[in-house]
Amino acid sequence: MQTKLLKADNNNIQKVASLAGEVLRRGGIVAIPTETVYGLAANALSGEAVKKIFEAKGRPQDNPLIVHVTDISEVTPLVKSIPDEARRLAEKFWPGPLTMIMPKSDLIPDETSGGLSTVAVRCPSHPVARAIIKAAGVPLAAPSANISGRPSPTNAKYVFEDMNGKIDMIVDGGQSEVGVESTVVTLAQKPARLLRPGGITAEQLKSVLGEVVIDDAVLHMLKSGEKAASPGMKYKHYAPKADVTIVKGSLDAFRRFVAEKGDCFVLCFEGEEKYFENYVTYGRADDPSSQANRLFDALRELDEKGAKTVYARDPGTSGVDLAVYNRLIRAAAFKTANAK
Ligand code: AMP
Ligand code: MG
Repeated sequence: MQTKLLKADNNNIQKVASLAGEVLRRGGIVAIPTETVYGLAANALSGEAVKKIFEAKGRPQDNPLIVHVTDISEVTPLVKSIPDEARRLAEKFWPGPLTMIMPKSDLIPDETSGGLSTVAVRCPSHPVARAIIKAAGVPLAAPSANISGRPSPTNAKYVFEDMNGKIDMIVDGGQSEVGVESTVVTLAQKPARLLRPGGITAEQLKSVLGEVVIDDAVLHMLKSGEKAASPGMKYKHYAPKADVTIVKGSLDAFRRFVAEKGDCFVLCFEGEEKYFENYVTYGRADDPSSQANRLFDALRELDEKGAKTVYARDPGTSGVDLAVYNRLIRAAAFKTANAK
């Protein structure tokens, strides 16, 4: 398949959106920019179209997709009913990097929901994503536009690397701002449960809902036989080719730890480059959003540099760093070390 590459800018959004919308209406798949990461979009109401996403990504079929809309009013036909909590969260955080799970209506095919009785919905803020959903005239199922298991792409270059020849079109809308996938919260049970941390923090959710439970799989490896509340959490994820370990401790302790290891790469914060020979940086130590913005690119850059063994500075787990840690610990296959 020949993959068309279109660049969207302020002057041609409508033109590009209408071309992408045409492809989507006839059941094709298009990679689209969003503020979180690039998504691989298809008509969420067509099982046939959605199947092509799973094929292009090599995604396990029981891992459900997020359905993208431009307004809460478009959610009504997709769910049994909209809980009051969903309206309050949408009021505060939509459009933006928050996905909400609710019991699904019959309009949502099993392919989209991975066979579950619930559906995940999100309203992106990226102007190009919004224009494309509107032009398609249908809600769009869109998981991250990477080959399953690889870091999510935050720019069109990395989408091209993974998807060229496998999909109809890639729309280049520049660098994704948030850099990690959306926060996923399920409202299909009480109290609400955070399944995946993202740009909207657990603290922000609590400010609206009061109580929010953080699912065990956010920070810990599932024990064998344990069922994942979010099917995506059970798969190896976000992994570069290198063997990654998160090293806890101060910068000084980290430097001593790495000095004893010999041939390796470090994933460190900006300003720390001078202490290491082989490094890639991922944001500023005191700025979790800058770490989220850089993390997936940094993981791909480590591959490009041929890194075999990587020691990563610990991002911590407060605010947006819970999302950064959640991705990095999976990239590290849950390996951590303590530097003294
Ligand atoms: P991605 O589309 O690659 O960002 O992944 C979507 C994430 O949301 C995965 O971790 C899915 O398992 C999760 N997800 C989507 N729909 C549901 C649902 N109905 N119930 C639980 N988790 C879901
Ligand atoms: Mg993904």
